[in-house]
Amino acid sequence: FEQNSALSERAQSFLSRDVHHHVIDGQRVPAASGRTLTTVNPSTGEALAQLAAGDEADVHRAVEAARRAFKGHWSTWTPYQRQALLVRIAHLLDERFEELIQIEAMDMGAPVSRLRTTKPALLKMLSFFGSQAANIAGETLMNGIPGTVATMTLKAPVGVIGGIIPWNGPLNGQFWIIGAVLASGCTAVLKPSEEASLSVLRVAEILQEAGVPDGVLNVVTGLGKEAGHALAAHPDVDRIAFTGSTQTGRSIIQASAVNIKKLQLELGGKSADIVCADADLDKAVPGAAMGVFANSGQICFAGTRVLVQRSVVDEFTERLLAFTDTLRVGRSLDDASTLGPVISRPQLDKVLSYIDIGRADGAELLCGGQRVEGELGKGYFVQPSVFGGVTNEMRIGREEIFGPVLSILPFDDVDEAIAIANDSEYGLGGAVWSQNLSTALRVVHGVHTGTMWVNCYGYIDPMVGFGGTKLSGYGAKGSSAHMDTYLYTKSVYLQL
Ligand code: NAD
Repeated sequence: FEQNSALSERAQSFLSRDVHHHVIDGQRVPAASGRTLTTVNPSTGEALAQLAAGDEADVHRAVEAARRAFKGHWSTWTPYQRQALLVRIAHLLDERFEELIQIEAMDMGAPVSRLRTTKPALLKMLSFFGSQAANIAGETLMNGIPGTVATMTLKAPVGVIGGIIPWNGPLNGQFWIIGAVLASGCTAVLKPSEEASLSVLRVAEILQEAGVPDGVLNVVTGLGKEAGHALAAHPDVDRIAFTGSTQTGRSIIQASAVNIKKLQLELGGKSADIVCADADLDKAVPGAAMGVFANSGQICFAGTRVLVQRSVVDEFTERLLAFTDTLRVGRSLDDASTLGPVISRPQLDKVLSYIDIGRADGAELLCGGQRVEGELGKGYFVQPSVFGGVTNEMRIGREEIFGPVLSILPFDDVDEAIAIANDSEYGLGGAVWSQNLSTALRVVHGVHTGTMWVNCYGYIDPMVGFGGTKLSGYGAKGSSAHMDTYLYTKSVYLQL
């Protein structure tokens, strides 16, 4: 790692391991098959790490460990002890965040400058789950003849959770599962993406330092169709929390039918970001641009369809192009980079092919559109790209690209904007930029999507949460409803 002089000693020592094994029952365990997978640093295109290539046998071993832990000493922990554990974890992550973001940056390509800004969100999430731990409440009803009968409901942890994680932000994303597992008293087997597993493996070790008992959180790495499928299909896994593509979500629904697992599914999106003529363009331009370009477009709720009212489309476009020009594409460990590479060679090819499709379908490429050459030429860098004159009939206006490609779709009135926004099979995010509150609320009510932002983009408060509708999935992420995946309700009838 000579070229990465900025790497901390801890990150360097972790990344130098010959093989990154599974974490099962508190131990680093090689794959039963002995096979490994090579992961690549997307900034350089060079091999980064060897991961254990987990399969059914490894998943089974991890599920057994999680089940033992669920029935064992962990089941005697009080909610306050679990809350205190979450507080300790927050302190440790706060201290070790720089090491973790360096590992994440090398593994999935997001610039450290961006990852650094995500620390408050992570700490907020842990604080939220800490509060959930101590607020697991049922109800009491006195509906019978007074003094003779009482009924109550209890909330109990469901058991073993299978957590399947995508590559586009595993460091923070895993805590939607880990936080809820620890708050509820469940245990889990996590299966991170084969493209970016390292921050999940490192976090598992840090959690042990914080005092998470062995077997409560296990990590099995490997391919989705092997380890991921085995987890979704395992008869002793009670529920699955999955974040990833809609296509994989469908496979998981089928595999999990074996024991009727309840699922929390956070899937893909094609969100519409609606800029009205009365928007404050000083805010709307950077807001809409970073609603797509942040994380190089690899965000599920990226506002990739930017709908702009026709009377301001020229001014908006000119200012958007000027803003895009200020973005600095570069390697993830370079502090000056604001835009990193996309995750892999197949993803690079996919993004570039969508740019060709956009051109062929008649959209006007206004900037970018190429792989970055020169000294970044070995990494998977795509220039931030803007298309004008896009319509919802074009594939770039309908399909999830998951790259730094922004489409501008002009509209005449707000009703038309709402209709365009709703003409999508997805329903994840969306925004409206307007200085008129009644216009903004009309759009908020009109757009059929799980989350709407007004005059901002991408802000998430775990108390409120976010989730999808239509092909973007179901099951809340955040809010007290999040815990529904991890708890079941038991009705108790008391004869007094
Ligand atoms: P993906 O669906 O390819 O993979 C996600 C995870 O599922 C990985 O761990 C993978 O190994 C596993 N997997 C793949 N096939 C599987 C199978 N047959 N059975 C079980 N597990 C399997 O998604 P990705 O490419 O890692 O991530 C990008 C996608 O995730 C995009 O569509 C994006 O919109 C979506 N995403 C959604 C959210 C959200 O909150 N809605 C957040 C982030 C990403």
